[in-house]
Amino acid sequence: MSARPLLMIPGPIEISDAVADAVAERPRAHTAPDFVAAYGRALDGMAQIWRAPEGAVPFAVPGSGTLAMETAASNLIDPGDAVVVASTGYFGDRMAEMLRRRGATVTLVQAPTVGDVPDVAAVREALAATGAKALFATHVDTSTGVRIDPVPLAAAARDAGALSVFDGVCATAAEAFDMAALGADVYLTASQKAIGLPPGMALWVASARALATRAALTSPPPMSIDWQPWQPVMEAYRAGKPSYFSTPATTLGWALAVGTTEILAGDADPAKAMELRWAAHRRTALGFRAAWAAMGLRLLPVRDEVTAHTLSALWLPDGVDAPRLLPEVRNRGAIIAGGLHPAVRERTFRVGHMGVVTGRPDALRLTVSAVAGGLAACGVSVDEAAALNAFDAAFQSA
Ligand code: PMP
Repeated sequence: MSARPLLMIPGPIEISDAVADAVAERPRAHTAPDFVAAYGRALDGMAQIWRAPEGAVPFAVPGSGTLAMETAASNLIDPGDAVVVASTGYFGDRMAEMLRRRGATVTLVQAPTVGDVPDVAAVREALAATGAKALFATHVDTSTGVRIDPVPLAAAARDAGALSVFDGVCATAAEAFDMAALGADVYLTASQKAIGLPPGMALWVASARALATRAALTSPPPMSIDWQPWQPVMEAYRAGKPSYFSTPATTLGWALAVGTTEILAGDADPAKAMELRWAAHRRTALGFRAAWAAMGLRLLPVRDEVTAHTLSALWLPDGVDAPRLLPEVRNRGAIIAGGLHPAVRERTFRVGHMGVVTGRPDALRLTVSAVAGGLAACGVSVDEAAALNAFDAAFQSA
């Protein structure tokens, strides 16, 4: 992890040595007994990480986060259905566009400003006024660094008799989420973020209600994004038996068994392991927040409660642009990202802090130094030592 710059963008992220070793192995047959056992373990691990409810099914298929979003939209919604999207940025807006293309009537409930969250009362009103079949929200929108609170949104959907779907691509396995307690219907992600794998797998858990909704669709989705033929395959793997619908990403599936085991390694009790995992991401985020403040940087999210623990989206200081800053930071050992949300793309930059690095304070401190040094090279007056001290104090006390 040290010879090349650290990958500190909000996905793909640094992966552990054990996951890298698993990815480096030669491909296995999707029917090989050791592969079937590993895939089954990975799916069982997902159920624990997600805190999946009774009757829910975990899915791991070749693809991206975008494919997971499309699959959720197309397996729950028939053309003509009403849906509500609570958007906090670029990926919420993408979800709305996907749903429109599926033929849904979309009511978009947006935040009052970029960096804030939509009002829950407005979401409730939209659900009631439209008789929506489902509510879609992005747990952490990677374009704004905004985290929604899934609790009142899932409750709003439940009260309205609607399904709830959460895009967890930049949150799952890092931000607190209890699918069973929330009564959520789909929680989806991709392999390249806090799951800690390279890109290439779409992952989600669908509730029994979500599965029944797919079975009752009048307009089935295209076969490649239909979860119904995958369901018996996932169930077979969990029962230790091979099965086929479409070839799984066997190398990534093998690595997923390693990655999910690592996520749950903190405690023998999976519930406690997840508390520790969420706390590690919170501690990391609070360390970075203290360092940013010491450098005079401002976060794009408008309040602490709506600020993600998985990445920092920051305003660029006056006179600094990302094309100049990013190479300076990279030369100092960390790869960070520019802005993404169209409204603030030129004025923001982003630092990801998910996965294995949360247990490596040396990597986190290196990132603080690289950003401080990069800003200084761009003519900003920053005190790197003060930023590191602020990081250490917040990281250690969190
Ligand atoms: N949703 C969110 C919140 C994301 O951050 C991303 C990727 N950055 C996606 C969806 C899309 O995932 P992918 O790039 O794997 O298609």
